[in-house]
Amino acid sequence: MQTDKPLRLFFALSCPSDLASAICNWRDSHALGGRPVAQTNLHMTLAFLGNQPATAVDGLKQLANSLRVDAFLLQLDQLQMIGKNFACLVPSQSPSPLNQLVEQLHAGLSTHGVMLDARPFLPHVTLSRQVHALPDIQPPAFHWPLHRFGLYRSENTSSGVHYSELASWPLAAPGH
Ligand code: ATP
Ligand code: MG
Repeated sequence: MQTDKPLRLFFALSCPSDLASAICNWRDSHALGGRPVAQTNLHMTLAFLGNQPATAVDGLKQLANSLRVDAFLLQLDQLQMIGKNFACLVPSQSPSPLNQLVEQLHAGLSTHGVMLDARPFLPHVTLSRQVHALPDIQPPAFHWPLHRFGLYRSENTSSGVHYSELASWPLAAPGH
């Protein structure tokens, strides 16, 4: 890897392919419009780091290695417009391990000197951007069992944004 080029990085939960497929089928059958997110790109961002030197990656991996959070089940059960007309699936309840994971990551990153967005964490999976208005529909509850989180690099390519997983870490089996 070229060492002088900054990397655009974020920690996230990557949506498993079977769930991503079910979510996109539901989205596409309801004609949300806008610019749909590619099925392979569905994710929930935990912490957005922005541009970082490639030399920072080892330290970030050590930081993630030191976290201990239980695996959990997330229910994506609400459709919501967030930010600049992003149609998103959100959980109506944020499970405490998700909050702990985000808190531990954010605390570790700030100790690491990484500046994070000051806005509070808002768990969401973006389905489509530049959506004019949300249809009045209730999504089915999409069940997402979380066993891992990862560090991703985001790159803009001619065929759209591409995320690559630099590393991932298991969440702990509850009670162990
Ligand atoms: P693109 O910007 O090319 O349309 P993208 O938003 O998916 O695609 P990135 O901008 O690299 O790609 O963002 C990666 C992830 O980090 C996305 O989930 C995005 O919503 C989130 N993100 C980007 N900027 C911020 C920010 N300032 N604060 C919090 N999260 C952010
Ligand atoms: Mg973006």
